Amino acid sequence: MQKKIFWSIFCTALTAMMTVGLCVLISIYGIFDVRLSEELRNEAHIISKALASVPSQADYLSSLNAENRVTLIAADGSVVFDSDAEADFMENHASRPEVVQAIAEGKGESRRYSDTMTEKTMYCAVRLTNGSVLRLASTERSLLGLVHRVVVPLALTLAVVAVMAVSLSRVLARRVTAPIAQLNLAAPLENDVYDELSPLLLRLEKQNDELREQLDIMHRQSRELTAITDSMREGLVLIDPRGRVLSVNRSAADIFSADPELCRSESYLSVNRSVELQNVVSSALDGISAEAQLKLDGRVYQLLGNPVLEKGIVRGIVVLILDVTERQEAEENRREFTANVSHELKTPLTSIVGFSEIMTNGLAKPEDMTSFAGRIHGEARRLIALIDDILRLSQLDEGANLPSFQSVDLMKICQDAAERLKERAKAAGVSITIGGEPASVAGIPKLLDEMVFNLTENAVKYNVPGGSVRLEVKQDASRVQLTVEDTGIGIPPDDQMRVFERFYRVDKSHSRETGGTGLGLSIVKHIAAIHHAEIALRSAPKKGSCFTVTFGG
Ligand code: ADP
Repeated sequence: MQKKIFWSIFCTALTAMMTVGLCVLISIYGIFDVRLSEELRNEAHIISKALASVPSQADYLSSLNAENRVTLIAADGSVVFDSDAEADFMENHASRPEVVQAIAEGKGESRRYSDTMTEKTMYCAVRLTNGSVLRLASTERSLLGLVHRVVVPLALTLAVVAVMAVSLSRVLARRVTAPIAQLNLAAPLENDVYDELSPLLLRLEKQNDELREQLDIMHRQSRELTAITDSMREGLVLIDPRGRVLSVNRSAADIFSADPELCRSESYLSVNRSVELQNVVSSALDGISAEAQLKLDGRVYQLLGNPVLEKGIVRGIVVLILDVTERQEAEENRREFTANVSHELKTPLTSIVGFSEIMTNGLAKPEDMTSFAGRIHGEARRLIALIDDILRLSQLDEGANLPSFQSVDLMKICQDAAERLKERAKAAGVSITIGGEPASVAGIPKLLDEMVFNLTENAVKYNVPGGSVRLEVKQDASRVQLTVEDTGIGIPPDDQMRVFERFYRVDKSHSRETGGTGLGLSIVKHIAAIHHAEIALRSAPKKGSCFTVTFGG
């Protein structure tokens, strides 16, 4: 900037100086030229007058001691007298223009320049009465000569101008740039500066507005994205093409125990260093979607890595983390259940096929036929019981089409169950008693009946002759508690948690003898869950078991 200002000042000064100087020089030179020729003319006139009355013109002229050169030329052109040179050695002047003109017209003038053009001689000639010519000459510097003379002072002046231009340009540049340097770019229109900056400030203000608007939009979009991703149950990690984390949603941060703020802009390894994640990310970075399963803190996660492609170039990666623990467990359970069902169905069917084959082949004695038929009947009944329980369980699993809850008198349900099991209990030598107080719960009567019946049936089945079963219903301010307690064989501590599993039996043969399917307690657990009730078991081998179902609370 300073350079530009310097050159503009310098060039302007130079141009102005040259123009003014030249104009002045030309005008002064013109004035002097006119005056000089007038002087020469006057002087020639005066001397010519004087010469008319003197006896010896040459003597007069030599005594004159004139300032200008004086030459007396005879009518034939020969020089009679010259104040600056020896007349005898001078050439004939008859052809000189001023002489020619003077002889012809009485007066003559001419100008001649020196070889270098720096000097100019002005001649003024007058014809005397005797025919000779008087010529006066004056030599002065020509315009070019004058210019030559002013070159040095001009150069000196220019040097001074240059020095002044440097300091002036420095000051000016500082003055111009100082307000620009102090501009408050955040609020351009509030600056108090010279008018020339106004268009710039207006544009800045406009751009500031646009920037602010775009930033607002970006912030809003970012907040919306964060709100959406944070409310996702799935983990979401966004990664840039260089493997740096762009964002980690709340679920992903929880899963990997990572701090989203600390991870941002760091390598994705700061989120999790597992090989599975590394494989998924590196594959996605290569533009190929990938999946992996990761076991972390006892849970199973599915990692899905997808590249974000734009014209075939990977612009980023989206890693989705799904908690598939339940799904895995459900699949595992389903597989186990299918295997168990097949096994459980196969056992009675094998018996049926075996007995019927013996009977068909005529291998059975006639007296055994009734017993065999009875065995087949028994196994078939077991099959039906098993299939009923399986269907029941799958109905409860689906949880669909359940009737709505209604107030159910639990005591009445207990009495019904006891009544229905009365005969079986009697046959087993087991007594059933009911205690407590009437209490109502919100529920599905059919399911609650099934639950109480199953628990009471088990209490009778796994009892000992002379043993007892007690059903009790208790109620406090917020809870209703049902207890089914027996003095039976009890359940070993290791089996207590597992008896609620499907097909789990403590003693397989005893269960089968009593027509058990191993599904009764699973159904009970399911029904309790549907009623938001908690089920607890207290048992000691050979002492008895106590099942408690707590509603509400
Ligand atoms: P099951 O049809 O075999 O009775 P359950 O699911 O009802 O199947 O019971 C699972 C297992 O729990 C039974 O096989 C039995 O070993 C044990 N069990 C259930 N109730 C009692 C009880 N009251 N006393 C002792 N053992 C029991």
